[in-house]
Amino acid sequence: MTFLPVFFNLKKRPCLVVGGGDVAARKVARLLLGEAKVRVVSPALNPELTQLRKDQRITHERSDFSDHHLNGCALVIAATDDGELNRRVSALAQARNIPVNVVDNPELCTIIMPSIVDRAPVQIAISTGGASPVLARLLRARLETMIPASYGRLATLMAEFRGKVKQRFPALRERRHFWEKVLQGPVAEMLFAGQDKAALAALERELDHTASSEQPLGEIYLVGGGPGDPDLLTFRALRLMQQADIVLYDRLVAPAVLKLTRKDAKRIYVGKERDQHAIGQNEINEVLVRLAKEGNRVLRLKGGDPFIFGRGGEEIETLSAEGIPFQVVPGITAASGCACYAGIPLTHRDYAHSCIFVTAHLKDDSMDLNWEALVQPKQTIAVYMGVHGIDVLCRELIAHGMPPGTAAALVQQGTTQKQRVFTGTVQTLPGIIKEQEIRPPSMIIVGDVVKLHEKLAWFEPIASD
Ligand code: SAH
Repeated sequence: MTFLPVFFNLKKRPCLVVGGGDVAARKVARLLLGEAKVRVVSPALNPELTQLRKDQRITHERSDFSDHHLNGCALVIAATDDGELNRRVSALAQARNIPVNVVDNPELCTIIMPSIVDRAPVQIAISTGGASPVLARLLRARLETMIPASYGRLATLMAEFRGKVKQRFPALRERRHFWEKVLQGPVAEMLFAGQDKAALAALERELDHTASSEQPLGEIYLVGGGPGDPDLLTFRALRLMQQADIVLYDRLVAPAVLKLTRKDAKRIYVGKERDQHAIGQNEINEVLVRLAKEGNRVLRLKGGDPFIFGRGGEEIETLSAEGIPFQVVPGITAASGCACYAGIPLTHRDYAHSCIFVTAHLKDDSMDLNWEALVQPKQTIAVYMGVHGIDVLCRELIAHGMPPGTAAALVQQGTTQKQRVFTGTVQTLPGIIKEQEIRPPSMIIVGDVVKLHEKLAWFEPIASD
């Protein structure tokens, strides 16, 4: 069946909904979005519609449907569970050329309701011509992930600048180029990141720049790539990964995640091995600044979350000092990813009321940690970078009063298809993992919550070699 997509202005126009149940309520909600004047005809109303009537957002005619209800209607929806009645409403409406929708029955419809991606004032309507509403909903979910939530704000900003831009670029082609650049560049990204004032300033600057030949600044996206499973990336991370010209990535970034960066982007490895730095932190900071000044959009991709033991703060401090635009995108941190994929809740009403994240670097065979703060009842400890010092870590925890029987786990390559989980106690875990070939990266989790692993483990990696 073919339907022509159109957008209907229903503001203050009388619309009739026949039926007072849940399905009718859904349709009423839709009509109210369009600010229609909604009248419901039905012997009874469900609680939702009853509330809307009380709030005077709809009117209600407590009766069965009869022909005269159609008088003066701009649109009618039949949403009853009586097939015969729905058919009658449709026939009568069609005889009068009133647009009619019958829920779940495209044969009886002259209009159908699309699935909507709402980025007001931008609206995307999806229809399968009634063939498969489920497919339309799936498509919608996909579009929702691709189109930033703040697209509407971008459209609004564009509307505000239309006059100015038109004045500056009288030729249509020039104007189009200008807008294309704005929509795919820093202005749009700043807006998506909630930096509205900066976006406005950048747009003003862009208008001036285009006249001068000055090289516009690039920007840096400091993005958390999560612990390994690419499905754990945020929508924003993925979008920026696909638009950056240059990618600077760490050793911890999983290959499956790196693969999702733009195919033709230049990739630069700046990984740091344990105890040896591929390129120093200062050098990374300098490279970022230089690349941005050359006008590049640079993705600084890090494992996990950039602000959790990721030196993200240091890198953007330099950018901030140099006045280079940047944004930071959080990622799932290893503690959270490993815990979830190992079925170990970091907090739990019965076992842990707090959770503490620490790094356990071994320095001259000792560890500089606040042991008193770590050894607390009902607390989970998530230990980053702790594998090499696990003997010292466990020994010191016990020496500072932790019961030796406290449960502990090591999660290796968490969230990936190579994930392995070893469990024991603070006393036994070092010995247990000595017998295994432990590969980085690995995370140690200490606390009673680890006991839940046996019951709650759900993730089954394919390649547990
Ligand atoms: N910014 C990162 C942490 C960097 S520190 C984050 O938020 O996750 C590096 C340490 O993180 C590693 O030594 C290891 O302890 C831990 N780690 C990172 N990814 C991991 C993974 N997939 N599985 C287990 N531990 C991981």
